[in-house]
Amino acid sequence: MTSTPRQFYWKGLHVPFIAPWEGEKSRSSTIVLRRGRGGEGIGYADELSTVDRRKGVLWIRYGAVRGTGSPNLAGVHPLRQRQAMYHMLCQVCGRSTFDRRSDERHLFLVRDVDGRPIGEGERTTTPPVCEPCAGESVRDCPHLRKGHTASLVGYAQSWGVAGIVYDPHTLTPILSDSKDGFTEVRYDNPLIRWTLAAREVVTLNRCTTVDLESLAAQKVAA
Ligand SMILES: [Zn+2]
Repeated sequence: MTSTPRQFYWKGLHVPFIAPWEGEKSRSSTIVLRRGRGGEGIGYADELSTVDRRKGVLWIRYGAVRGTGSPNLAGVHPLRQRQAMYHMLCQVCGRSTFDRRSDERHLFLVRDVDGRPIGEGERTTTPPVCEPCAGESVRDCPHLRKGHTASLVGYAQSWGVAGIVYDPHTLTPILSDSKDGFTEVRYDNPLIRWTLAAREVVTLNRCTTVDLESLAAQKVAA
């Protein structure tokens, strides 16, 4: 039962499922102190518990109108990133990566920054990718072309979120030193109640480093 989401192209390039479009903006909402089950934390003044929270964590509000305006190919739409992580969808075509390999492992492809393979238990906010899309990404993405590392992962475990942590006293955002100001917070960390989530974070387990070219060659041979 695999549904195929609509595919979008822009100037000859396949637009990733998780890429945000010009028409998709974060919506500013008033953050308030909220007393919920288990204690205090942040909430929205006009919160809708069914859509604004996942696993009890408050999520950033974001428009969802794929195909409106131009895409930001290197960007990440927080809610589609979350969807891709929860359901192990390919970050490019949005199809399930569960039924793409007979061994039910998932392919993860990341930019290689220091020549190191993906380590056992490593955290990531980058969703999986299917093999055809991996080949396409390495060919078309300038960042990945410079260097990448791929791994077949037996199990991606839910770990926490990356987002903006709010000061419990002043309710002002505390930006981290990371590029986007996000802090990674584990689900069992009390700080999670003060975090506005923007990415789902998983850990990668039972990892086997693979070479994309030989993976494609195996497929042809099989
Ligand atoms: Zn794909």
